[in-house]
Amino acid sequence: MIVAIDGPAASGKSTVARAIATELGMAYLDTGAMYRAIAVEAQRRGIALDDGEALTRLALEAHIHFGREGGSGLATHVEVDGRDVTAAIRTPEADRAVSPVSAVPGVRAAMVEQQRRIAGREHDTVLEGRDIGSVVFPHAELKIFLTASSEERARRRTIDMERRGAGMTYDEVLADLRRRDTYDSSRSASPLLKAADAIELDTTGMTIREVVCAIETLVAERR
Ligand code: C5P
Repeated sequence: MIVAIDGPAASGKSTVARAIATELGMAYLDTGAMYRAIAVEAQRRGIALDDGEALTRLALEAHIHFGREGGSGLATHVEVDGRDVTAAIRTPEADRAVSPVSAVPGVRAAMVEQQRRIAGREHDTVLEGRDIGSVVFPHAELKIFLTASSEERARRRTIDMERRGAGMTYDEVLADLRRRDTYDSSRSASPLLKAADAIELDTTGMTIREVVCAIETLVAERR
């Protein structure tokens, strides 16, 4: 069974998808981490973020690996060609670089191909991203589109950033989220978009537990 969870930045996709995968014994794939890994590797190699050809070559060549430590069922770290980029993909610089990189059609084609391959190896997978229900798995058994107001998403992301010591203010985080929302929604290649058959959940007034329970009930119904 494929569970597709899409939605804008900081709508709670990762937290919710990880909880569902753990509780229901499903595999989990964070597709945003893959685009982030390519963006970080492009910066390390000095590839310009508007050089679509070089970015496509990189996306085709680079080997992205999700590693698990300590017997965890879920990935605990991300590597590109054997280099650990777990922390690097979560910095404000990576936040800035990822949207232009993920807007390149060749980069998307390479990532989608890998995502289908990775999920195809597992029995049940929860994938989260922007285009899972619309492009990667249009026939997913369950499609969820998670939203929350931009203020609520900025509040959550600011707490997240503080925990990681990234030191961004609420206003900076809100501006970055709005910029990424606009970029991700207006790009021509697979823009962020709710699939016609996706169930939209506005999580603004909901706790994580409530969101997880709501989705798990839907999984049980579809199984
Ligand atoms: O989900 P996350 O915020 O980590 O995603 C980072 C960026 O990767 C998004 O802002 C978007 O530009 C891109 N992305 C995408 N398609 C996906 C997942 C992420 O374009 N399926």
